[in-house]
Amino acid sequence: MEKFFRPLRIEQYEALIGAEAVERIMLKAKRLHDLRVINISSTFYGGGVAEILSSLTLAQRAIGVRADWRLIQGSPDFFSVTKKLHNALQGGDINLSELKKEIYEEVNFQNSIRMEVEADVVVVHDPQPLPMVTHYRRACPWVWRCHVDLSRPHAPCWDYLRQFVEQYDAMIVSLPEYAQEVDVPQLFFMPAIDPFSIKNRELSEAEVRDRLDHYGIPDDLPIVAQISRFDRWKDPQGVIEAFKLARREVDATLVLLGNVATDDPEGQEVFESLLGCKEERILILTAEDSALVNALQRHAAVVLQKSLREGFGLTVTEAMWKGTPVIGGDCGGIRHQIEDGKNGFLVSSVEQAAARIVQLVKDADLRRRLGEAAREMVRGRFLMSRLAEQYLDLFAAFEPRFALNHPRGGGRLEYLPPGGRRSNKGR
Ligand code: UDP
Repeated sequence: MEKFFRPLRIEQYEALIGAEAVERIMLKAKRLHDLRVINISSTFYGGGVAEILSSLTLAQRAIGVRADWRLIQGSPDFFSVTKKLHNALQGGDINLSELKKEIYEEVNFQNSIRMEVEADVVVVHDPQPLPMVTHYRRACPWVWRCHVDLSRPHAPCWDYLRQFVEQYDAMIVSLPEYAQEVDVPQLFFMPAIDPFSIKNRELSEAEVRDRLDHYGIPDDLPIVAQISRFDRWKDPQGVIEAFKLARREVDATLVLLGNVATDDPEGQEVFESLLGCKEERILILTAEDSALVNALQRHAAVVLQKSLREGFGLTVTEAMWKGTPVIGGDCGGIRHQIEDGKNGFLVSSVEQAAARIVQLVKDADLRRRLGEAAREMVRGRFLMSRLAEQYLDLFAAFEPRFALNHPRGGGRLEYLPPGGRRSNKGR
């Protein structure tokens, strides 16, 4: 059985990033050995945050950081509000009523009552648990990690959320262009992938074929795939239109594989709205299967990620790692991964996407060239070892606080009764 357990060893990265880098990370980790880090998010499954936390916490454990991951619980109306906040942060509109604020703040308060937080650093992910911070007497640094595309947030929504953000000791966003005017130090961490996970490790031809056969995905024609949560920002409709245009010139199969995050009440509706578009060569699938994601990203002639907004776009990284050329929407984090014409293509319309599909399906040599450059880009910049090291640097920057306020082994944070909001002064 043992061969199935993924060994948690940072040394595994040596072949990818070099012995020197591994040694440097281990040295930094040694200084912070046994540091207790608690991550708080709103779902264990579906979407990039869950994907990153699954591998980041394992990578941190592998270097001696005691990384933990907790969830907040919420009713459907809570997640309906938080999805609206998420959309508004990405530039959508929101009617920010008092009732929505009450649901949002009340559920966070209830979660804070249930959740004991005993840590050296707390990292809160995305808007859902953002107000949690207001209900604890902080004996350690709290960091808000925002994963969404903050380039154009809806102003009233941001003004409302800022009061919570400013309670934190630092805020991390994915890109410098997401920086906000806010009275908190801001850092920029781009996400990363775990190259050893089932989703990203090498697969044999037989394993790829087995996954495709299992889901009845034909491989007689080149495959064009988009693998994404069912979300309007990912523009699945635009993908289908682009594919139909491209098919006037080249023959191929489109596979739209998607899932619905447990904290996203809109996903099911988006999925159902697409079902009418199914055709013999347009497959719309939903399956909770990381090996299928791997097989598709690996086998596809072209992967699309035609997003209209994209905080980062791990699906782009994942496909690029497999040497598959990606056609990505020219937005957010996709721009930081794809260098147009060098390791993939950036597009801003259905017509552009269609033209690039045609070009790539026709030209195997171009696919190989872009794919090789894509893998190299990920190897150099988007592996989990880099993200784990950035977190180590951040934690190290807080070190005087651990010594001052929070001797190891103690310092449990206490629940404050309602109204006991901590002020920013005298930290
Ligand atoms: N994903 C998956 N199955 C699917 C669709 C998506 O496992 O059917 C995964 C995908 O492989 C990636 C994550 O969900 O790891 C999506 O992350 P991304 O940053 O691209 O987008 P987000 O959903 O966070 O907006």
